[in-house]
Amino acid sequence: MGWGFFGHKVIQQLAIYGLPKDMQGFYHRHMGHLVEKSVRPDERRNTDSTEAPRHFIDVDYYGPNAVNEMPEGWAAASAKYPVDTLTKYGLVPWHVVVMQERLTRAFQQKNVDSILYYSADLGHYIQDAHVPLHTTLNYDGQLTGQHGLHSLWESKLPEQNLKDYSLKHEKAKYLANPEHEIWEVIRASHKDLPNMLALEKEVSKNFTDQTKFVTTERNGRTRKSYSDAFAKAYQQALGTTVEKRLQAAAQMTGSFWFTCWVDGGRPDLNALLITSRTPAETKQLKLEKKAWKKGRLQEKDLLLTKSR
Ligand SMILES: [Zn+2]
Repeated sequence: MGWGFFGHKVIQQLAIYGLPKDMQGFYHRHMGHLVEKSVRPDERRNTDSTEAPRHFIDVDYYGPNAVNEMPEGWAAASAKYPVDTLTKYGLVPWHVVVMQERLTRAFQQKNVDSILYYSADLGHYIQDAHVPLHTTLNYDGQLTGQHGLHSLWESKLPEQNLKDYSLKHEKAKYLANPEHEIWEVIRASHKDLPNMLALEKEVSKNFTDQTKFVTTERNGRTRKSYSDAFAKAYQQALGTTVEKRLQAAAQMTGSFWFTCWVDGGRPDLNALLITSRTPAETKQLKLEKKAWKKGRLQEKDLLLTKSR
């Protein structure tokens, strides 16, 4: 998954606010679509067996310092390791580059349909790379007796606490070496792991099995997951960790879109709109950007996706 549906949708919307002016009108016109389609790659996993490895990289499989030593480019990585192995332990950084190339081509061809399609998909994979548990064999805390940590971190925490997160981020920037940048993302995500695992253990000291977990039944199957009270305490211990990854994901999504647009020859995106932008749209975008800059999107109820 990566961020759960809620997180992906929020990040995809935020990414639009950090874009340069020349791109923003086009992306804002299609905001509803891009937000909705931000989760399409996860949905595709149900029908396409080749999809799953594109969402993660269990980089520690390759050794304790592999995150710093792994060849960044696909050619070098696949010369060093069998493709079967690379596929088994996840492809996210390389798949981001594939998507980046496709989006660049879509801009070159001024193909609106493809621009939207690859913008949405590229955003998703970049966002997944920002989730620490998407970079490890211990992807659900299952190797350290912390089963369920995945959905706690990427779904429950953002949904429960988004109202308190700062949703402002730095503007999109041009990436001279996108392949390297996505590896920097993986490294930053991976670096958060020891702390998030240790804090879960630490916070658990104040809970019993009964207060730490809740059991729910879905379709006749029982599932044990972290309780609201535990999630609250854990969020407190983590401080700004989750919101920082969320902000970084929004900025990086925008930066990749921007880079593809530049590399695709900076096509005039407003000319690609079927109808020109209306004064009302311009006004609405201005209002949203102002709220974004002040960190008041939630308070002004301007997020398209609502938490439960
Ligand atoms: Zn995913």
